[in-house]
Amino acid sequence: MASEPLPRGGTIGILGGGQLGRMLAQAAAKLGFQTCVLAPEADSPAFAVSGSHIVAGYDDAEAFKALAARCDVVTFEFENVSAEALGILEGAVRIAPPRRALEVTQDRLLEKRFVDSLGLATAPWAPVDGAHALEDALASLVGQDGDSPMFLKLARQGYDGKGQLRIGGLSDLGKAQDWLGEKAAVLEKAVSFEIELSVIAVRAYGGAMAFYDVPRNTHRGGVLHESLVPAPVSDEIRSQARSYARQIAEALDYVGVIAVEMFLVREGGGPRLLVNEIAPRVHNSGHWTIEACAVSQFENHIRAVAGWPLGATDRHADARMVNLLGSDVDHALALLRENPARSLHLYGKREARAGRKMGHYVELTLLRDS
Ligand code: AMP
Repeated sequence: MASEPLPRGGTIGILGGGQLGRMLAQAAAKLGFQTCVLAPEADSPAFAVSGSHIVAGYDDAEAFKALAARCDVVTFEFENVSAEALGILEGAVRIAPPRRALEVTQDRLLEKRFVDSLGLATAPWAPVDGAHALEDALASLVGQDGDSPMFLKLARQGYDGKGQLRIGGLSDLGKAQDWLGEKAAVLEKAVSFEIELSVIAVRAYGGAMAFYDVPRNTHRGGVLHESLVPAPVSDEIRSQARSYARQIAEALDYVGVIAVEMFLVREGGGPRLLVNEIAPRVHNSGHWTIEACAVSQFENHIRAVAGWPLGATDRHADARMVNLLGSDVDHALALLRENPARSLHLYGKREARAGRKMGHYVELTLLRDS
């Protein structure tokens, strides 16, 4: 059943109504599918471009049943969906990506253990089961001087740099304990990476995979600012990054677009990749694929979850994607005047709160046939 292609005009459910859901719904419409988006906010960006929607919280069991009843397949624009919701959906409708992919990636502890189990490198880390366990965890990671920058990351509900505290080392123990309380967390050594990059890949029901080129990502305050393709890395690093993403996707029996964020570090002379985070969904660092590739990450995700053939992921241009955060969006018209070749996306959010993703633009440099 899982690999049966969705009939033309079938209905795809999307859990989450932000900009990712909006661009997924647009890609689904391009292929003639109907969409039904479930999200808690009545003014969710995806509602404006989907045929139908359900305004409901992510803990509303009746709403999940209603979504399942309306759809041929349900997919996700974000990973923080409760086990209960996943159970209801899974019992009633085809879901993609699979439940395990969401469960592993919505909990940083499970995610780190999963990556370790595959033998892939991460920044040195330790589990922390609440404030009382923090001192031992810190002691296990700091150098002899006791001071070593660390990130304390809540196991659950963190994204875009939220739910994280940067600390200097043992000297910040008290501050870190106050911040953490009795929550579970991951303590991670801060690594001095050369660059951050991500692999955006898509996997079909039968296991076929396609990879987009690897962008270099720059963050500001934990939030993505810019993605540049191609990333300035060797072919070896590019294919190693892809192989990491392939191993992760295969171990999860994944279907759809998956993004794996990585750090490139240089230790003992040689470059090395560390896995930072897995996103079981389309990703901000893949937005440039709309303009620079024949088939975007959004369309490929829809094709994959619908059981339709995957599309080509080659790019016909170098690309630069820049996020418009908060009041950046006030300069949108000036950005267009400055360079008419810029492709602008605005998400239709009314309130431009500081750091909120309001839109993005993409600039291309076309590759010529040689
Ligand atoms: P995350 O939510 O884990 O993706 O973290 C957001 C951003 O914080 C990353 O993209 C990095 O720029 C930075 N960051 C997170 N963890 C580390 C680390 N262990 N070492 C250095 N920088 C980090």
